[in-house]
Amino acid sequence: MDPVSLPALSCVALCGGTHGNELSGVCLVREQQRKKEEETEHVTLVTVMSNPRAVQECRRYIEKDLNRCFTAAILSTPVSDRTPYEIVRAQELNALLGPKGSDGAMDLVCDLHNTTANMGLCLISNSDCDWICMHIYKHLQTNISSIPVRLLNLYTSPDESSNLASVGKHGLSIEIGPQPHGLVRADVLSTMKKGVQLMLEWIRLFNSGTVFEGGEVEVHTVVKCIDFPRDPETHDITAVIHPQLQDQDFCLLRQGDPLFLSFSGETEVYRGGAPLSSLCE
Ligand SMILES: [Zn+2]
Repeated sequence: MDPVSLPALSCVALCGGTHGNELSGVCLVREQQRKKEEETEHVTLVTVMSNPRAVQECRRYIEKDLNRCFTAAILSTPVSDRTPYEIVRAQELNALLGPKGSDGAMDLVCDLHNTTANMGLCLISNSDCDWICMHIYKHLQTNISSIPVRLLNLYTSPDESSNLASVGKHGLSIEIGPQPHGLVRADVLSTMKKGVQLMLEWIRLFNSGTVFEGGEVEVHTVVKCIDFPRDPETHDITAVIHPQLQDQDFCLLRQGDPLFLSFSGETEVYRGGAPLSSLCE
């Protein structure tokens, strides 16, 4: 394997509150902002509360999901008085942390999220050939033993990527669960804190010229989404996740395994053919 040299990550953004009711990132960013923006020998860390109005109201978003607003098309939409708040905010964040795809963009944007799913710590990357993201993932996986650490790849082009992390030259979302929205669990918060510290530690090592060994990493990707069973007329959900599947995120789901339990007590099984890892959100 030939060595690859990459430029240092001088400017790193740490974002929380992109979804206003996912509180670990909100707490972490607030704590970091109390300490003021950190400039060390090797890296400038900028902290951002991405959607302050949604955070104030403890809602995912006000008018439109902010983490779906960073496509090239939405970022270039002309703004008027009637433009949804999140589109205006996405353009502000793009000016602050980007512009996306430009030389002036942050070297790395790390965006902090929670999920109600029993996901453990999941790093989400947009590209399948981002060595920086894969090495950070390996560093976290090696050093965190309290919960599983995984990498989920979305394989989207920069123009089509709609998440905030895609504004940086490199982008990572850190998603940790299970945590109910609107609440903070101490174990989830301390794992997120540790994940961020380890990421910054890796960046400092990288920026000071450390050579990292290559290797293999396991990557998950989205193959398909299965919606809940719904009433054909009202479209209301008519079933819950089956108790045998609940909290078994990333376990292999095989043909015939229970998927849903209807409100009237019938089990619906997986008929998808090939076995897949499942994620219940
Ligand atoms: Zn989120």
